[in-house]
Amino acid sequence: MNSPNASFEAVPQLARVIPRDSHPISRSGISPDALRVLYRLRDAGYQAFLVGGCVRDLMLGNEPKDFDVATNALPEDVRRLFRNCRLIGRRFRLAHVFFGRDIIEVATFRAASAPEPGDEPMLDLEGEGEGEGDDGDAVDAAPAAQFDEPDVDRVVNEQGRILRDNVYGTIDQDVWRRDFTVNALYYNIADFSIWDYVGGFEDVMARRLRLIGDPETRYREDPVRMLRAARFEAKLGLELDHATSAPVAELRQLLASVPSARLFDETLKLFLTGHGARSYQVLKARGLLEVLLPSVARVVSRYPGGPVERLLVAGLENTDARVRNDRPVTPTFLFALLLYGPVAVEIESAPRDRWQDTGTILDAVDSAIRGIYSRVALPRRFALGVRDMFALQPRLEAPRGRRALRLLENPKFRAAFDLLALRAQCGMADPAIVEWWEKLQKAGPQQLASLAEGAEGGWPDGGSDDAAAPASSGEGGPGRPRRRRRPRSGRGPRPARG
Ligand code: ATP
Ligand code: MG
Repeated sequence: MNSPNASFEAVPQLARVIPRDSHPISRSGISPDALRVLYRLRDAGYQAFLVGGCVRDLMLGNEPKDFDVATNALPEDVRRLFRNCRLIGRRFRLAHVFFGRDIIEVATFRAASAPEPGDEPMLDLEGEGEGEGDDGDAVDAAPAAQFDEPDVDRVVNEQGRILRDNVYGTIDQDVWRRDFTVNALYYNIADFSIWDYVGGFEDVMARRLRLIGDPETRYREDPVRMLRAARFEAKLGLELDHATSAPVAELRQLLASVPSARLFDETLKLFLTGHGARSYQVLKARGLLEVLLPSVARVVSRYPGGPVERLLVAGLENTDARVRNDRPVTPTFLFALLLYGPVAVEIESAPRDRWQDTGTILDAVDSAIRGIYSRVALPRRFALGVRDMFALQPRLEAPRGRRALRLLENPKFRAAFDLLALRAQCGMADPAIVEWWEKLQKAGPQQLASLAEGAEGGWPDGGSDDAAAPASSGEGGPGRPRRRRRPRSGRGPRPARG
């Protein structure tokens, strides 16, 4: 690792300094923990800035997700200043300062352009497997000598993708490694001014997303920036400047070379942080869905506005509403939505009389998951949940007596029921059965028993024909919207209507 002022030769450039009275960021919007970290660094004689998404979000009047600090203190200096501090990262060390469950990330200025710590693609030379999730690279620091690292500070592959980069630098070098101008603003705790080297201040004001430097080079260095652009477009309503959007059509295939564990993380950020429905539209419009999730893109482009796409969009809208209301969301449910089309296609390729078989359904789910795995590596625990959700569909559609009550206790019941409700909403399941389950979930012990007994003979037609078949097309054949079934009087559970 290098000391500050190391080799990278950035063009020396002066920052435009926007004084406190000319920008909207007030300390009352900054987390007290982040302020504590900034003040302590400043009092110890170091430069200390807030940087990245938090400055952008504060300027836009949004509540930042987290607060990142950039400083000229080296990681070891930061550790000395904070008792509640841990150094993480193998190739590039950064400090995590803990305040209960909150973490303030403190990074030493770095030279050159590099993916964020934890976002770095794995270096194949080192023979490591791919990480899983955010912590893929965020392990305790170990002595560098333990990792047989090549004796260079920057490693780039033949497509120009940065594989490793670990040069400490100064703030006017740090700025060039950041992706978009709006993500490269520094809020200086010394005088509460904002430092802007790249025109990010105007871009935030104009709600414009612009890559720093030559767009093609920056996308080649790290193709994930194309997904980040889509995410900021969807999340913040920023307009991509032409030079930033134009190369995406041609370069999007480079995403295929990004480790699939990292693309899984990006997929969650796109779809599980409150703007999933918009992310879907942006990814589709920019041709990125085709590269990220080709099998999903194939179904929706074959049947635009069909039941599969309606289910996906309605499911994403529900998920967005849950995020807004601080309710939990899960990758399992998300991937059941995303994979609904590919699973339907698989099921429909089996003989019709097998569509309901658990074996057919599980094979279809496994095959759909395998189909996306080289791009988006769905961790096994979520894959198992997706299997359960699909396997439960025929049982939910044909509840039988007291066995239905046992289903209520299944850990995946709620997720599977939510999927059933979406299917009904999109014409792929009987709304009456959804109402029946709703009633059952709300019922007290007495009513539960009588409802269940009402279904003792089974839900008529349930378990026959295409009751559980997901419809990929919604027009004729297996995909036709299903005819509405009614329970026979006295036998099936009579759903309350009206
Ligand atoms: P969010 O609100 O989603 O957290 P963010 O901009 O803070 O958005 P992070 O992934 O938290 O995104 O990254 C923090 C900062 O690190 C970014 O603002 C940007 O300056 C820099 N950064 C992150 N990823 C990249 C990348 N792939 N290439 C260049 N710079 C990046
Ligand atoms: Mg952030």
